[in-house]
Amino acid sequence: MTSPLFSRVAIVGFGLIGSSIARCVAEYPGLAKDVVCIDRSQAVCDRVVELGIAAAASTDPALVATADLVVLATPIGAFADLGAIIGPHLTPGTILTDVGSVKQSVVRDIGPHVPDGVHFVPGHPLAGTEHSGPDAGFASLFKDRWCILTPVPGTNEAAVEKLAAFWRGCGSQIERMEPGHHDRVLAITSHLPHLIAYTIVGTATDLEEHLKSEVIRFSASGFRDFTRIAASDPVMWRDIFLNNREAVLEVIQRFTEDLTALQRAIRWGEGEKLEELFTRTRAIRRSIIDARQA
Ligand code: NAP
Repeated sequence: MTSPLFSRVAIVGFGLIGSSIARCVAEYPGLAKDVVCIDRSQAVCDRVVELGIAAAASTDPALVATADLVVLATPIGAFADLGAIIGPHLTPGTILTDVGSVKQSVVRDIGPHVPDGVHFVPGHPLAGTEHSGPDAGFASLFKDRWCILTPVPGTNEAAVEKLAAFWRGCGSQIERMEPGHHDRVLAITSHLPHLIAYTIVGTATDLEEHLKSEVIRFSASGFRDFTRIAASDPVMWRDIFLNNREAVLEVIQRFTEDLTALQRAIRWGEGEKLEELFTRTRAIRRSIIDARQA
């Protein structure tokens, strides 16, 4: 039998994404011998032990010293402090990665704390749900989903390939991107859609009482899909908007202009303009289905 890719994976922040990675290691052969959990919350550590999804669980970040793959899976706002805390415990040869939804800020916040001989390869699995915590994870979360790796120039190529092999073992397809490009792509594909969902649900919440109850009763007519997205973790999304500020502000600007154009078309009864847009957007949906990302 060939030996697994890694001896031990230490996952810092054992929520939806962290615990899903741990479940992948348990279910799919060849990824790692074992997984350890590091979480600031003792309740999370206790629950991880109860679920039996890690060999050990601790609130002590020094546990990363026992691993040859360290995955940061907390909200990205915690990364700068976390980097300073775990940096001194990382051993040479270790691969350090993360799953954060923004990449330039991660390079900024973690990069300075990476000791010589440790290979830092930022990553982002494009997979998730609106649920949080160690109970929410499942092994098939990353299956047929993209995982984007954003190594900075000069990163050890063997380390990048090894991490890519790990994610392929979790079922993902790999794409490499420059961190800034990643952040612009995600601003439009993920961050703006979440912002719109938060806005619509927020607007509905502010309606008068009688309208509000009708919104809930008849939610299946479109609103319901937005409420699922708007139920995503508030801390995680706060951190995403604060850390991808420039790219998000730029797509909001473009979106606002397009919305104003639609508003005008409705006001002036320009049906052909509306139909032309809706026909183009329907084709986008078709190509997402064809790419098996639906
Ligand atoms: P989650 O379920 O809320 O889990 C995060 C865990 O990290 C919680 O147990 C949290 O503990 C813990 N934590 C927070 N700060 C910490 C610290 N300083 N040290 C140690 N543990 C800490 O979150 P998630 O959905 O897995 O998201 C984790 C990361 O994945 C985020 O960076 C997010 O951007 C990225 N991501 C998420 C998705 C998604 O759809 N959910 C998809 C792709 C990438 P407490 O409960 O005590 O706060």
